[in-house]
Amino acid sequence: MTNIYGKTIEQLEEYFTNMGLKKFRARQIYDWLYKKRVLSFDEMANVKKDLREQLKKDYSMEQLTILDKQEGVDVVKYLLELKDHNKIEAVLMKHDYGNSLCVSSQVGCNMGCSFCESGRLKKVRNLSSEEMVLQVLLIEQDLKIRITHVVLMGIGEPFDNYEQVMNFIDIINSPYGIALGSRHITVSTCGIIPKIKDFMHHGKQVNIAISLHASNDALRQQLMPIDKAYPLSELIPVMKEYIKVTNRRVTFEYILLRDINDHIKEADELVHLLKGMNCTINLIPYNETSHIKYKRSTEKQISAFFDYLKQHKMNTTIRREFGSTVSAACGQLRSNYEEEN
Ligand code: SAH
Repeated sequence: MTNIYGKTIEQLEEYFTNMGLKKFRARQIYDWLYKKRVLSFDEMANVKKDLREQLKKDYSMEQLTILDKQEGVDVVKYLLELKDHNKIEAVLMKHDYGNSLCVSSQVGCNMGCSFCESGRLKKVRNLSSEEMVLQVLLIEQDLKIRITHVVLMGIGEPFDNYEQVMNFIDIINSPYGIALGSRHITVSTCGIIPKIKDFMHHGKQVNIAISLHASNDALRQQLMPIDKAYPLSELIPVMKEYIKVTNRRVTFEYILLRDINDHIKEADELVHLLKGMNCTINLIPYNETSHIKYKRSTEKQISAFFDYLKQHKMNTTIRREFGSTVSAACGQLRSNYEEEN
């Protein structure tokens, strides 16, 4: 049965008008689901009994379940179970500016980045929009907090599941529902150019982050197979166009891997690659995992890399670390679980 949390307000309006009812019913339902947060149709007091019965026939309100939860300083990491028993992760990070949830978009991932734990287990399937919405609702309920920011940086490649991800964004962004501001939502992609172009024309003020991780194609192709299909020579011009069309700053994520991509040579290449673009470079200290050979760069090398970029007037930040003590490194909780069971 269709889960109601996967429906955009427009889809629900269509459902009601097809039944010969007024559109405003959709807003009423959204109010119950996302403002009042009831967990059954019977609690929707201003919806007539026969309509409630019809809704029960057409839609489920089934939630996700929490399998495991690990808490660290300012971080809570969840292993969640889906209806078909597949497992995903979601990570809540407490920042001084608010609570940010890292949401998964797929079960596994097919992008095959050599440093990433999520890709060791291949893609099983895409997540539906409701399975993304329910990550937000469940964790808000569990921790009794409001999530102020959503980042699509959990397991999966969001642009390999474009349609469901866009529905998810519409649903959490709707003023009649969770009403999360589009500037508080970030999609992170390994660089699937056709979808970046679609996203560029979508018209939402949602942030985009590009997983760059290398300053030239030879290196990037070792780390990220996607670079063979969409090399930097195409990606960077598209991002320049993206900035022009959307008038928004983009983020480039750069994991620092010891002795692989953390030399001043690569920092210098980055300066030349990104010079003049309205962008931020977010340096990510690598989260080591037992299954993968890469090491985190030394503190000294991280500082040297950062300083070089700053000296060359690049907007650069170093990602604050969460959860290396709670296997929070991108896909670790799930892959550990799958191996133990
Ligand atoms: N597929 C998307 C989003 C998921 S990954 C993407 O590629 O952007 C979110 C970010 O975490 C990406 O930048 C990814 O490269 C990075 N990442 C993956 N494994 C990591 C690890 N072990 N340590 C630090 N960052 C990692």
